[in-house]
Amino acid sequence: MKSVGKRPESGFKFATALAASLLSFFAGAQPDLESYSRQGVERLSSYLQIDTVNPPGNESRGVEFLKTIFSEAGLAFEHVESAPGRGNIWAKLPATTTPKQAGLILLHHIDVVPANRDYWSFDPLSGEVKDGFVYGRGAIDTKGLGIAQLQAFLALAESGLPRNRDVWLMATADEEAGGFFGAGWLVENRPELFADVGYVLNEGGSGRVFGEDIAVMVEVTQKVPLWLKLTSTGRPGHGSAPLVETSVTRMVRALKRISETEFPVRVMQPVAEMFEGIAPYQSDADRQTFATIGQGNLSDEYLLELKMRSPGYHALLRNTCSITRLEGSAKINVIPAEVHAELDCRLLPDQDPEEFLQALNVIINDPHVSIGKIMGFTPAVSTTQTPLFKAIVDVSADEFGAQVVPTVAGGFTDSHFFRDLGITSYGYSPFAFTTAEFAGVHGNDERVSVINIERGIRVYYQLLAKFVGGQ
Ligand SMILES: [Zn+2]
Repeated sequence: MKSVGKRPESGFKFATALAASLLSFFAGAQPDLESYSRQGVERLSSYLQIDTVNPPGNESRGVEFLKTIFSEAGLAFEHVESAPGRGNIWAKLPATTTPKQAGLILLHHIDVVPANRDYWSFDPLSGEVKDGFVYGRGAIDTKGLGIAQLQAFLALAESGLPRNRDVWLMATADEEAGGFFGAGWLVENRPELFADVGYVLNEGGSGRVFGEDIAVMVEVTQKVPLWLKLTSTGRPGHGSAPLVETSVTRMVRALKRISETEFPVRVMQPVAEMFEGIAPYQSDADRQTFATIGQGNLSDEYLLELKMRSPGYHALLRNTCSITRLEGSAKINVIPAEVHAELDCRLLPDQDPEEFLQALNVIINDPHVSIGKIMGFTPAVSTTQTPLFKAIVDVSADEFGAQVVPTVAGGFTDSHFFRDLGITSYGYSPFAFTTAEFAGVHGNDERVSVINIERGIRVYYQLLAKFVGGQ
């Protein structure tokens, strides 16, 4: 780790007091990053103890916590509830130089997914700091990221570095349920906030430890959710007198057809680049295939094996549908007139959703089974040809000795709301996770190492100093 915070002041030992004060005016006071880092661990512990499990969210509790911190730091902030208890908050450090460049939002979400205490070895809301880890639901997704952003943001404010653009710290509600009371609501109801914004740094990418190496994954696009509800209809009756064809038999047949369908493999350019980027860190079995995946010579056997071994990687190569919800008769002896099933389909970012629905209809091939849309987003990809991406590359090399790999995420985040507005959005966390640590996200025993939080705050500050402060 490069030592941070070495400033040219020491080289100016004999400068006059005037020169020294001028220097500190231009270069800013060096914030004490050590204490920001330590304080970050304490603050994460407190943040994790606040119950913002979604549903119902109660993000306004998190807003109260952040309000206090902004107030203590003397920073102006605004907050708004999209619905009772669904708080969102943001603070802005305005640009100090002209011409002002496109603004940057540091985004995280306050809500967390539920945790089943029975499967955890500690209280998910404990926020306990023990054995080098901070424990609790949201430690990684995304209160840990939020604290790294917050502490770096506060350090930037204190540094007095010139700022070439507005920088925002934004914490929103409801990401885990689609963001419609959070980022989506703000984009819809407070569009003026985003008028001068050119960049969003959000969750969705991070450093990953591969043996001796670290690669920093920066998410530039994601598969597009298309959530569907199938409805099948048929003649109702009594369970004691089976019918030839019912809503249930139709649905079972439709779902069998869907579950046995593998959509065509299509390796998009960003996916090929990602696989090439991570190829050096793969096992012997995968290295060559990953490096040349763009050439499209994947056998069915290899794809099946990859699906069993690494379902997440496999899902980046084609459109997919998971059957997730089933709703049949309300009574065991009643053949229902109508049954439902829900599908979580994820489309490649260049897939036309309407075309996909037509294809799905052909697969189901039954006029008594209809498809309704629950939710769908428009896809977009953020370019890597930006000064922000370059700053991430530079900081990752300096701080981790790591390569940056642009990645496509199989899941989705709030970034699509901003990509839809033409705002460059990257999924980026300043952490380096081992596979074991990362497994806690939406899983059991979520925790983050103290080292990741402390180092992450320093890394994030370096990134802001470089991109915003021209360091
Ligand atoms: Zn998240």
